[in-house]
Amino acid sequence: MAALSRRRFAAGLAATALPHGAAAQFVAERNKDGALAYASDEFAPLIDFRALVDHPVVIDAVDVLDHSDKTKFVRVRSKDGAQGVIIANKRLWHTYSLLDTLFRPVLLGKDARDIQRIFDLLFRVNYPRGYKYSSMPYFIIQGHIELAIMDMFGHMLGKSVAALAGEPKLGEVAVYMSRLSRDTSAEEEIDIAERYVVEAGAKAVKVKIGGRMRINADASPGRTEALVSGIRKRLGDDMVIYVDANGSYDAPTAIRVGRMLEDNGVAFYEEPCEWEDFEMTKQVADALEMPVAGGEQDTSLPKWRWMAEHGGVDILQPDIMYNGGFIRTMMVANIAKTFGRRIAPHYPRSGPETAPLMHFVASIDNFEGFMEYRADQNETDFDYEPIIKPVNGVIALPEGSGFGVQYDAKVLRTVEN
Ligand SMILES: [Mg+2]
Repeated sequence: MAALSRRRFAAGLAATALPHGAAAQFVAERNKDGALAYASDEFAPLIDFRALVDHPVVIDAVDVLDHSDKTKFVRVRSKDGAQGVIIANKRLWHTYSLLDTLFRPVLLGKDARDIQRIFDLLFRVNYPRGYKYSSMPYFIIQGHIELAIMDMFGHMLGKSVAALAGEPKLGEVAVYMSRLSRDTSAEEEIDIAERYVVEAGAKAVKVKIGGRMRINADASPGRTEALVSGIRKRLGDDMVIYVDANGSYDAPTAIRVGRMLEDNGVAFYEEPCEWEDFEMTKQVADALEMPVAGGEQDTSLPKWRWMAEHGGVDILQPDIMYNGGFIRTMMVANIAKTFGRRIAPHYPRSGPETAPLMHFVASIDNFEGFMEYRADQNETDFDYEPIIKPVNGVIALPEGSGFGVQYDAKVLRTVEN
């Protein structure tokens, strides 16, 4: 009953309709009869780059910079020499052909001030019709390019990306140390997590439970319960603990595990069930008092609306790169806000890779808790400044234009087309 009350309360905060136009472009709203209808067919950009820049910013190049086996960058350049750079996600290695064949031909020669509309038309209308490829591999390419363009506009305007979207709401961001391993024993994992938490001065941590998409099998017998109860005991009652099941369970098992998590004061339960099984995940969210989080693979705006409206999850976790970039993820934040829900973005990165997410969380007002920060990977094979790492559990929003990271010129030399 308590769970139902809490969820009704969240729904009670919701407005009856999505914000008009820009906030959730072309995501249907409920009309007075409860039918889902488009509020408008007029395009309105979330960030009006034409108002910010008074001349065309013609896209001249979209390049993948092949720095090393470990590190690549995506760089966008304009005809008049502006550029923006983003560190590539490893999944670019496998999805690069979509950049090469689908996105680059459409973008070259276009005015970057219209980027939101260009992506929208590529997805819906223009050949080769992005929606035919729709899902994470498509939107991760859009995400790389869009984030590089946001960095470019920031540099052009001498503003941080957070400031492009309005007044930044945070000057520093508190992080949780995100662990990604299941090949450790519970005891080893507690030792490792404690070491990273202490080193960073973090007030929050996330550990992996279950067996990742393995149909109720634990990573090793008894690991989940030993890990959760053990880490609570070791790190104390004040530590914020998140757990991530990566789609490990069916609903009855997930609910049973969830009761154990509640007994140990876990703050959210990420992906209890297979990510595409919205109904099963909702059964878990409905049954438990604790918040269920999810959405890292999700990219569909209408599905985000369904999740937010119906409580498919309590906390939405879009990834700014997997979900198609900064602006498209702001739309998800706005959809969530409409239904009284909060955002805890997925982004297990560290060091300079974290900068775009920091600007994103500084741009929204329904950011939940602590920002994800990968515990075990602070080393880069290139030089950059300023150094980004948590001190006393927080990272200052990088100052300077764009995402606030300057890369050693050497890393921007090699071009792979
Ligand atoms: Mg996850």
